[in-house]
Amino acid sequence: MSAIPTPVAGRDVDTVKLLIDGEFVESTSTEWRDIVNPATQQLLARVPFATAAETDAAIRAAHAAFATWKNTPIGARMRIMLKYQALVREHMPRIAHTLSAEQGKTIPDAEGDIFRGLEVVEHACSIGTLQQGEFAENVAGGVDTYTLRQPIGVCAGITPFNFPAMIPLWMFPMALVCGNTFVLKPSEQDPMSTMQLVELALEAGVPKGVLNVVHGGKAVVDALCTHELVKAISFVGSTAVGTHVYRLGSEHGKRVQAMMGAKNHAVVLPDANREQSLNALVGASFGAAGQRCMATSVAVLVGAAREWVPELVAKAKQLTVNAGSEPHTDVGPVVSRAAKERILGLIDSGVKQGATLALDGRGVKVSGYENGNFIGPTIFTDVTTDMDIYTSEIFGPVLVVLHVPTLDDAIALVNRNPFGNGVGVFTQSGAAARKFQSEIDIGQVGINIPIPVPVPFFSFTGSRGSKLGDLGPYGKQVVQFYTQTKTITARWFDDEPASGVNTTISLR
Ligand code: NAD
Repeated sequence: MSAIPTPVAGRDVDTVKLLIDGEFVESTSTEWRDIVNPATQQLLARVPFATAAETDAAIRAAHAAFATWKNTPIGARMRIMLKYQALVREHMPRIAHTLSAEQGKTIPDAEGDIFRGLEVVEHACSIGTLQQGEFAENVAGGVDTYTLRQPIGVCAGITPFNFPAMIPLWMFPMALVCGNTFVLKPSEQDPMSTMQLVELALEAGVPKGVLNVVHGGKAVVDALCTHELVKAISFVGSTAVGTHVYRLGSEHGKRVQAMMGAKNHAVVLPDANREQSLNALVGASFGAAGQRCMATSVAVLVGAAREWVPELVAKAKQLTVNAGSEPHTDVGPVVSRAAKERILGLIDSGVKQGATLALDGRGVKVSGYENGNFIGPTIFTDVTTDMDIYTSEIFGPVLVVLHVPTLDDAIALVNRNPFGNGVGVFTQSGAAARKFQSEIDIGQVGINIPIPVPVPFFSFTGSRGSKLGDLGPYGKQVVQFYTQTKTITARWFDDEPASGVNTTISLR
């Protein structure tokens, strides 16, 4: 059976499958959720909430496969990734089409979503050098010390709706290439493109049981966090759920990394390149309808840069709001009706709490897509740090603008915000940028770069309310996350006479 939804006799709509022990299977669950095109409300498929027995079966299949997979030579694992990256590249247009339909983002942005994940698959092909241990010769008379980086067993991944390609690809390729087996729990809002990527992984040669997929919500996530056979959990999503996953998984003895919510500031100094900075700000705030974890959601205009607001608003007004499948769309719909209601509620709260609505995207109409979940670019000025539009992650096309007199004030403001995912500084001053990078307490820092997501040979980081766990989801850090270091201290005896029993700690 294929991963791609296919009509099932007796049902009126396609269903998304589970992947258990190499087979795409129809869930026996009684609980299902509709997957809906956010631009049209067209029902695309239904996704099951896996039963407890199905989740258990997926974990046990992964556990059984680990016995063989962990001993599969590193070159064999690497060659599967080499084939996988070629397949993902070849099928990118098809997957992007599905991704845009189920998530809402534009086709070029959907291709970007896949491409940023593909880069992690490419990096996984370097595992031969990434997973090497260390060696020190002759640490004492005739004694050598070295480390092994061994896979840890069954790992689980829980992913959010906003990057249904990139984030699953942050997880299972690196986990697998390190010799682990995997159970993936994609977002229940848009799992179809994720399943296309999973199907290609099997085509590339990932053996049965090595990669498994279960769908669902809290019950499935909690089962993954508490199951005795799961050794590590990678989570990406909101801070509330990530904190729950981190605590529950840690309590049950698992290694957990949780990449979580954000409120990303862009600090604009008056010496910045005005045109370039405003273009960057508008693209980073409203691209993907603001539903990127690294989207800019707060502009901090320093000193005379506060005069730039009219130009900022004028640029945002020019963006085209339309379905993601239409050419030249800048801002697609938000993912669901519930998300739209939540965002509109926050915009209303901003008005009630006294902020100035400099650009109001609430009433936007999109011809031909009257039922879409559209919100136009929205900008608030006169915002204070106690307002809900500043304290909450809006996760929509809404930018709030604050003014401060100095760079020091801007740094203090950003560091007081509970989130620490991404930040940008716009300036032509090397000294100001250097001070900023040194004093700011944020994981990803951009200097004249609005969305500074690191390439995969570095690691995605994060601080404070945006991250729990020490190690990031890709780069060298994730090899540490997905492996257990074993340190060997070894001596080989030659034919010299034995030196006798020694009961003291050696001083050399
Ligand atoms: P979410 O937290 O609602 O869902 C994430 C995952 O958790 C999904 O698979 C979902 O099924 C599961 N889940 C939802 N509720 C749960 C519960 N009560 N118990 C257990 N599991 C539950 O996040 P989302 O709305 O899908 O994604 C948006 C969020 O993700 C934003 O906060 C965004 O900033 C964040 N995000 C962070 C990063 C990062 O790298 N820091 C990247 C992408 C997205």
